[in-house]
This record gives sequence, C-alpha cells and structure tokens, in this order.
Amino acid sequence: MTIDEIVQRAKSSGVKLVSFLYCDNGGVLRGKSVHVSRLASRMRSGVGLTAAMQAMSDMDDLQSVPGMGPVGETRLVPDAGTFAIAPYAPRRASMMCDMMTPDLQPYSACPRDFLKRAIAKAAEMGLTIQAAFEPEWYFARETEDGEFVPIDRDLVNAAVKAMKAREVVDEIVDALEAQGLSVEQYYPELGHGQHEMSVRHADALRAADNHLLFKETVRNAAYKHGMLASFAPKPFPDQAGNGCHIHLSAWDADGENNLFYHQTETQNLSELAHGFIAGVMKHMPALMALSCPSVNSYRRLQPGTWSSAYMCYGPDNREAALRIPSRFSGAEMASTNIEYRPADNSANPYIALGGLIFAGLDGIENGLRPDERQNVDVDPRTLSQEELAARGIRRYPMGLPQATAHLQADSMMMDALGPDLANSYTAIRRADSVHFSTRGVEYEVRHHFHKY
Ligand code: GLU
Ligand code: MG
Repeated sequence: MTIDEIVQRAKSSGVKLVSFLYCDNGGVLRGKSVHVSRLASRMRSGVGLTAAMQAMSDMDDLQSVPGMGPVGETRLVPDAGTFAIAPYAPRRASMMCDMMTPDLQPYSACPRDFLKRAIAKAAEMGLTIQAAFEPEWYFARETEDGEFVPIDRDLVNAAVKAMKAREVVDEIVDALEAQGLSVEQYYPELGHGQHEMSVRHADALRAADNHLLFKETVRNAAYKHGMLASFAPKPFPDQAGNGCHIHLSAWDADGENNLFYHQTETQNLSELAHGFIAGVMKHMPALMALSCPSVNSYRRLQPGTWSSAYMCYGPDNREAALRIPSRFSGAEMASTNIEYRPADNSANPYIALGGLIFAGLDGIENGLRPDERQNVDVDPRTLSQEELAARGIRRYPMGLPQATAHLQADSMMMDALGPDLANSYTAIRRADSVHFSTRGVEYEVRHHFHKY
C-alpha cells in the first residue's frame, strides 16, 4: 500500500492514532503514536526518538553508551507493509518501524536493520530465508496481593484445558487474521495456564514483524479478558518454560525451491543445510546472548524440561539445541527445516533471527560441516559425562553473564552487529545481569512477567 492508501484506510476505518512501534535492545516493544491527520507526513519523515532509547535497560536505567545520552536523535520510520488494525482496538492502527538517522539513513543501532543486513547477505549468496517463531505463553490473573495465578491446572493437549481458554483464544485467532497473519496451530501446553500457537512461516523480516504483532495481540486479548499473558522465559519456576523456537529454511532467490532439502540424503538435508547447521553450532554460545537474552532465560534452559540444555543436534530431538523435524509426507521439500530451540520471547526477534542467519551463512561460506559426534538421537542428559566429553557436547552457557562474554568474544557476530548495536546491546545485558544478581527469584519473575 502507498502512504496515501494507508492514510485513506486509517481514516475510513475511524482510526485516530497510529502506533509507530519498534523493538528495543531489551526485547521490549515500544513506540509512539501519531494522529491520523499527521500520518502522511510522519510516514515520510518519521517520528523523533532520542538516541538514548537503545541504551535503556530493561529496568529503564539508561546505560552509559557513546552517542546514546541526552544529546542525539533518531527517527522511527514505519514500514507501510506492516500496517494493521486489530479488532480489539478499532480506533488504533500499528506499524513496525526502522530506527533511522534524522537524514533517513539506517541507524547503526537499529535491530531491524541488523536483520535486513543478514537477509541482504543471504541474498548475495542466492538465498532467501524463511522463518517462523513458535511462541509459548501463560495466561494468568493477578490477585490483589500481586500474586500471579495461572488460569488452569489442566493437562497438556487436554480438551478441558482448551475449553477454559476458548474465548480468549478465539479472539486471538480472529484478531491475528484481521491483521493479516495466518494461524497454523494452537494447543494447550504443558504448564498450568500455558498455551501455544504458531503462525505460518514467512520471509525472515515479515516473520519477525509478525512475531511482535502476535505477542501484542495475545497480550491485548488477554487483558480484555481480565488476564495477563506472560511470555517470560520462566514465569513460574516450578512449571514448564516458555520457549519460542525458531524454524528456518533457505530457499532459492525466487523462493521456489527449498535449498535445505535433498531427496536422498539422510534426514533430507542438503549440503547447504549441513553448512548452515555447522555455522549455528559454531556460534551457538554467542547466539545464546541474542536468543536467550534475559536473566530469566537461563532459569528455563534446564536439562529434562524439553527446553534443551546441550549444544547438539538431532532428528526430532526436543532436548537438542537444533531439532531436525521429520518431514511431512507428501510435502517433503516444503517441510524441511531446522528448529533452533534455545530461543525465547524475551529476545528481540530481529536480533535473534539476524544472528542465526549470520551464523548459518558463516557456516556455508566457510564450507563447515557439522560434527557428526554431536548428532544425537537420545536425550543428551542420559549420556555420561565421559560420553558427552568424547562427543564434544557441552552444556549451554549457564547464565546471562557467561552468554554475554561469549558474544563479546565472537568476532564474526560482533562485526555483524557493528560497534553501536554491539556496544548498546551488551551494555544492557551486563546491566540486567548485575541488577538481578542479588535480588532473588520472586523479584526476577515479577520484573519479567509481562514485559515482553
Ligand atoms: N516448553 C518447552 C520450552 O521451553 C518446549 C516444549 C515443546 O517442545 O513444545 O522450550
Ligand atoms: Mg510447545
């Protein structure tokens, strides 16, 4: 749609305010709204935003990062293709934005631009990346004492559990469809009050945009029904974590052929897919700081919880970092993909996906092959320490400080991020690590519960 068409659509729908949204370094969706009378000009020039925002920690404590203080400005410039009106708020519309410089050049600390650069690099190699995010979340109510109580205590996949969430889930599906997202599956998950829905894969940028709109939709629908939706990685320490596994495949430039697919190779994986896997495995410790970026993330990543805890890969292995899902009969080519499991909803989807793509492309570019010893068809927890060591299988970094240190030591990833994004991003990781290090689990949960 052109700018004029969007303004027309907003006006004829009775929209007054249009939210210019962006996801910050802390994984938080933030934004500013523009009145419809000013929409056309603001879509062209953007809305002003202090350059400090990318140095704002998850506690809104401004970190000391060069160029990100009280002096300095960026612009939020919307992507017209993301214009959406949600039925639960018919007088509002939203658009996802790039952070740009005042003269409308890409801003060096813009997460969305980081993903665009990853996509451009893939394009140079003749590849288009398809991706899907697979979010889990909890529905809960907050009591007068500030306690979070899940809405059900029922069993995974149980019809009675789906029944209790039916009204809010139906509202979510309607709202997603009205905003142009295509829902694939829904099911009540393992944790009390935990649910999961997946949206059809899309090109990488759209998939990340969709994921942010998805969470915004779930949060809003829940709120309307007197609940909170928690996308925190581990909102209830004694219950299952909330993952947000990321599915990826690389297609040819026309998007016609899935180049991860090979008809006769083991697990239908091509040479190219093996290179991609090897790159992801190589950079995984650093990637963790991008895909599991909150302190709460590491409470989720425990062995034996299906969240994955070891750096290995394997066919249909839900305890491996990379699951190679079995292909669907009759749709072998289309359904070949890899699932990256150490990812959660506290991640900025542009940064997590961008990092994954850069890692995978690095593997392809350098002709890497995955280490066959790390191809595991059992729960890695059942392997002895000796066997794990013999197969070169390591545990994930045990906490955010460790993952951040791995990121800072990974020159490929730091170069891909570029100094401004890398400095601001790691500053926030360090600030969060320090802030939560002495405050206990209850405080941690409270401050992660409905932030993302
Ligand atoms: N809740 C698990 C996680 O934290 C995932 C369960 C599943 O395989 O869907 O990743
Ligand atoms: Mg699940």
